[in-house]
Amino acid sequence: MQLARRGISSVLIDGSGRVGKGVAYSTTEPAHLLNVPAQGMSALADEPDHFARAFEAAGGHRRGFAQRRFFGQYLGGLLGHAEASGNVASLNATATAANQVADGWRVSLDDGSSLEASALVLATGNQEPDGLRAFADAGSRFIRNPWGDEARNAIANLASNGEAALIVGTGLTMVDLVLSLDAASYTGRIVALSRRGLIPRTHADFDPVPVALEDVPQGDVRGLTRWLRERGARIGWRAAVDSLRPHSHALWQRLDTTQQRRFLRHARPWWDVHRHRIAPEVGSTVAQMVSSGQLEIVAGRIETATVTDSKLEVTYRRRRASKPQRETFAYAFNCTGPLHSMTHTRDPLLRSLLNAGAVKPDHLGIGLEVDGVCRAAKHLWAMGPLTKGRYWEIIAVPDIREQAARVAADIEQELCA
Ligand SMILES: Cc1cc2nc3c(=O)[nH]c(=O)nc-3n(C[C@H](O)[C@H](O)[C@H](O)COP(=O)(O)OP(=O)(O)OC[C@H]3O[C@@H](n4cnc5c(N)ncnc54)[C@H](O)[C@@H]3O)c2cc1C
Repeated sequence: MQLARRGISSVLIDGSGRVGKGVAYSTTEPAHLLNVPAQGMSALADEPDHFARAFEAAGGHRRGFAQRRFFGQYLGGLLGHAEASGNVASLNATATAANQVADGWRVSLDDGSSLEASALVLATGNQEPDGLRAFADAGSRFIRNPWGDEARNAIANLASNGEAALIVGTGLTMVDLVLSLDAASYTGRIVALSRRGLIPRTHADFDPVPVALEDVPQGDVRGLTRWLRERGARIGWRAAVDSLRPHSHALWQRLDTTQQRRFLRHARPWWDVHRHRIAPEVGSTVAQMVSSGQLEIVAGRIETATVTDSKLEVTYRRRRASKPQRETFAYAFNCTGPLHSMTHTRDPLLRSLLNAGAVKPDHLGIGLEVDGVCRAAKHLWAMGPLTKGRYWEIIAVPDIREQAARVAADIEQELCA
């Protein structure tokens, strides 16, 4: 859309059948809500109210949380508008390789065809998670991708027989799955397990208390954590966490690699649950399921998983427990979140570029190395979760829309120079 506005033609390649919506906004489940209030979800960097107006026109409140499928329709409308300009064409195909040619890139597609372009943008989103070693022999009882058809079938089976379900991971993906089970009228037991058993906190109204970047400790994760705790105690943790948002890229980039690793290893689970909060109505559904005893959140780790009589027998050890316990589940779902390792990517396009040395993993190995204008190579840009190593906070719409505008401007400058 940003390119079309600049009069630059582009081809949008997406082989998933959910072009323009990705995993996040192609859900059809009404219970899946945005985790950012409508007023923060405009797709347009220069029109921050754009989505809030659309939501209000449909009867919503700008501080409320729209259904994700509604946001998907909004994105679809914007894409349709860009296509109508004649500058955007969508192609339903998977890109399998890209090779540099004299004036740009040749992209190969899974149907055997290829196309050439002066600029290539990688916006392939979150990577599917790795399998979990303990479930290597669990076959179809282990649902590796919580967004696919297998997961939908498993939810339908669970709803009809009420057997117990295990969820590995207790973050936003777990919340989505629990909501889907609840919406399917499932009443069975759910165990959701992660190392620390931390679950996303809930949004609530607060008065923002901005802070200047110079007043925030820099370069040291421990110092920053201490400062955040103290500030949270004074002004409320939501105000303290959100006051860092405008500075998140600068704060991340002023940590050296050792400090960034320290953040990922120790602080990240806490940061994630406070920063990526859930809508109040979602929070109360989850809380109600916990208090009724249907959903148990466990801090611990999986030891073994075997299939016996076509059920999963799982042993897991609760944190600080001396002995593991054994429990039988009909299914286990992998909700550990997106892959955080570029070298393990299964995306054929990324694999081909990495194997050819055309792009490099970033210094942390969690995305691609990009420069200050998101270039990963000559005439090649990367966006969104692929640029986590450089920006860290670059996975949500408010950040990606700014990045899209900047990348489009840079492409325009490069191509029209
Ligand atoms: C469940 C969920 C809920 C979220 N909720 C919110 C929210 O409420 N608010 C918010 O701000 N953010 C939210 N996010 C985060 C954020 O909006 C998304 O991660 C964002 O959609 C990323 O956009 P993207 O275009 O980079 O990638 P995606 O939306 O993931 O799109 C990438 C597309 O590229 C396709 N693709 C990948 N490789 C290839 C290939 N080789 N060839 C062809 N196609 C390919 C994929 O199939 C996919 O369709 C959520 C994320 C998830 C997963």
